[in-house]
Amino acid sequence: MNPAPDSEQLVIAVSKGRIFKDAMPLLERVGVRPTDDPDVSRKLILDTTDPAIKLVIIRASDVPTYVEYGAADIGIAGKDVLLEYEGDGYYEPLDLQIARCRLMVAGPDHERLPPTRLRVATKYPAITRRYFAEKGVQIEVIKLYGSMELAPLVGLADRIVDLVDTGNTLRANGLKPLEHICDVSSRLIVNKAALKTKHARVTGLVRQLAAAVGASSPWGAS
Ligand code: AMP
Repeated sequence: MNPAPDSEQLVIAVSKGRIFKDAMPLLERVGVRPTDDPDVSRKLILDTTDPAIKLVIIRASDVPTYVEYGAADIGIAGKDVLLEYEGDGYYEPLDLQIARCRLMVAGPDHERLPPTRLRVATKYPAITRRYFAEKGVQIEVIKLYGSMELAPLVGLADRIVDLVDTGNTLRANGLKPLEHICDVSSRLIVNKAALKTKHARVTGLVRQLAAAVGASSPWGAS
């Protein structure tokens, strides 16, 4: 089969790890299977069994940037990442209902004295500031890039804001969930220009994925 012309090619941005693992069965159901395993291969652009679809493998927090600027036509990103990104340079037509978890405030199991001005460690500074501002609580945000659970243990912070799934990581580190900020799942996002220039391909794929997750079609039936 001849390769599809570039203008008809769709680029999908996705991150390695949990989102990739959960997204692959969905993509396979619509005929898209990568020809390499990103956990083994070092390639950052993966061909798929659909010659007109490529995957780019990037950091989760970079997915909205790639899609907003059109480096990818479509992206798969957690709602946590989208809320933190604060942009509106893309459409968000579909909740894929995968990689589900909760964004929570957590703190030590046992606290001698509640701190007066909370220090909150997180990789979500924007969400954290918004959440506490809406409650009228003054905090200091400490931006971290990982292992948030360590921060209260070593006196770096009083609270953390992080994703919680089973709660095992919190428990293993003497922490407990305190406040539920929001539920999180992975969303499909679409570059605004691509929806016009590659309309049939983009809406076709979104519709197929909507059917695969049992959602109603976001952009009409045809
Ligand atoms: P758990 O111990 O099951 O509560 O998982 C918590 C750890 O897994 C934390 O380090 C979270 O940042 C991470 N985590 C949980 N759910 C997700 C998700 N859907 N996507 C990415 N990381 C997650």
